[in-house]
Amino acid sequence: MQKIKEKNDLYEIALQSIGDAVVATDIHNNIIIMNSVAEKMTGWVREDALGKPLNEVFVFMEKKSNSIIENPFRLSLEQGLTIGLNKDDLLLSRDGSSRYASASSSPIRDTNNKIVGIIVVLRDISRIRNNEEQIRKLSLIIEQTRNAVIITDTNRIIEYANPSFIQLTGNLSDNIIGQDLCTLNFIDCSSDKVQIIKELYKSRQKWRGEIDLIDKQGNLNWRDFMFSPINNYDGLVTNFFIILQDITARKLGEESIRKAKEEAEAANRAKDQFLANMSHEIRTPLNGIIGMTTLTLLSDLNPEQKENLNIIKMAGDNLLNIVNDILDYSKIEAGKVMIEEIDFDLRELIISNLSIHSIRAEEKGLKLRYYIDTDIPAVLIGDPHRIQQVLTNLLTNALKFTENGEIHVNVNSDARSESAIVLRISVSDTGIGITEEQMDKLFKSFSQVDGSITRNFGGTGLGLYICKQMVNMMRGEIWAESIPGQGSSFYFTVKLGISGNSAKANKKAIDNSCSVKTVDKALNILLVEDQKINQLVIYNLLHARGHSVEIANNGAEALEILEQRSFDLILMDIWMPEMDGLETTRQIRRREEKSGEHIAIIAITAHAIKGDREKFLSAGMDDYIAKPVEMEKLFHTVENVQINVLSK
Ligand code: ADP
Repeated sequence: MQKIKEKNDLYEIALQSIGDAVVATDIHNNIIIMNSVAEKMTGWVREDALGKPLNEVFVFMEKKSNSIIENPFRLSLEQGLTIGLNKDDLLLSRDGSSRYASASSSPIRDTNNKIVGIIVVLRDISRIRNNEEQIRKLSLIIEQTRNAVIITDTNRIIEYANPSFIQLTGNLSDNIIGQDLCTLNFIDCSSDKVQIIKELYKSRQKWRGEIDLIDKQGNLNWRDFMFSPINNYDGLVTNFFIILQDITARKLGEESIRKAKEEAEAANRAKDQFLANMSHEIRTPLNGIIGMTTLTLLSDLNPEQKENLNIIKMAGDNLLNIVNDILDYSKIEAGKVMIEEIDFDLRELIISNLSIHSIRAEEKGLKLRYYIDTDIPAVLIGDPHRIQQVLTNLLTNALKFTENGEIHVNVNSDARSESAIVLRISVSDTGIGITEEQMDKLFKSFSQVDGSITRNFGGTGLGLYICKQMVNMMRGEIWAESIPGQGSSFYFTVKLGISGNSAKANKKAIDNSCSVKTVDKALNILLVEDQKINQLVIYNLLHARGHSVEIANNGAEALEILEQRSFDLILMDIWMPEMDGLETTRQIRRREEKSGEHIAIIAITAHAIKGDREKFLSAGMDDYIAKPVEMEKLFHTVENVQINVLSK
């Protein structure tokens, strides 16, 4: 008896230890045995379930039809068959939840082989089924995607290829599985691509790149190529997958954008060149007109002749201003204006600018004064030419619109840090002033505040617009204040760097005199210029000033003359036939490498467009002046030339 009890206990323990649900019935299909997994799966407690019909406790549902399966294991009981469930059948729990279950029922026979009940073993396969479902979805995506996907073993043998890949190769799927990837004709088998793929299999590393391949029709195609190992649970590489994405359209798009960009750049360069040529073509004859007039004005003339020539000179100057404004305007509109960041001496800049305008002021009987805050550092970093351009414009306007009184230039610092300073520069006049409504029109392109004033004073109406653009590019503001009838003040700010380089400023002599009439020191100058009229103008101007000038008609001649004689400085035209000014300068600098000397070379140029200054300086020039050569500017540049440290 004891033995039987022990045996029963053992069966019970075994039953409860089984990981699957186990349930047994008697011949009437009523439950007689049920283990704990079965309890969990059904939500029934064993005590309640025992004696109940199997299909009351184990309720199965066909997923497709959503209907209860009446008695799935009936045939086991009636005919002794082994019965399973369909893979989509669900077991409904007492709490309403459901799970996928696999089951197998078998009859229980007594010693006479008579069926006395059934035993059913059930397993929860929800996880497996969910995984299967997931895999099914993923496979569907891979089958449908337009990207070509393949899985190979570690020897490049294809195990799986999706329809897109099959289509890409033009093969039948049967022909692809089991083949070496590198023998398929989706890539040119002799090409370096095959080598790339072989290397990838050797390296076993993830890789992504772009490859070109020839398709079945012989067209060049581009694919984004992704290569990646597949590891098993132990981390061992068992397979590789490759995804090929067609990026031909994008590549062709990029290519056409690149071509369009190149063409646009070429067109732009042609426009730049045109601008440079136009600038040269217009300024060269103007140079002649203004230069010869200036020259003739220096000779003995009767008052009427002088008056006539003055009118010609004024008309020439006006025309030149208009040409300059239009060229500047088109450069601004084309985004061609660049702001430089170089060391410069602000005081020198202001004073030399004033000295140029002092002649006109004197002629009109106006006082020209300036004040520069002593706190402003000697050497600043910024674009002196643009600052000068703005200042010149404001001064020209002030001189234009003032008949009596004075013009005052003030330079103060608005804000300052260790490395930067904001300057506020103002030009105030005692002229006709500007009314409030006229104020609104200032700084706008093509706006002159008053039609009648335009007729009286001339101008393009571009000057202040250009100033505003330049100032804005220098991170500054420009504005005006005025009392009509009493005068106007124009202000602009610029943010500049503070240079640690003060030596340069100390070396420079500051000319406070505002005078251009006397020559400090006669210089020996070599003028290299091919055009006779320019030769004549510059020669005569410099000569009248007391300098001695020798002329070379071209670069080669200049080099010859330099072999025999030495000069204090060279004025070098840029555009010359045969050997241009840049090349001549380079040759001079090369020769100097041996002697260690450095003669100052000033470029004379009709085309001052973006990048020119850099071009001149890098060729070894020290400074440049623009054509048509203005007398005061010529004297000032020649007499104050500084050696460009870059070219030394
Ligand atoms: P413009 O080249 O015609 O002088 P600007 O843009 O320099 O063009 O000036 C536009 C207009 O602003 C001038 O025509 C003039 O009417 C007015 N203006 C500029 N500066 C002054 C000033 N200092 N005094 C009076 N009016 C001025």
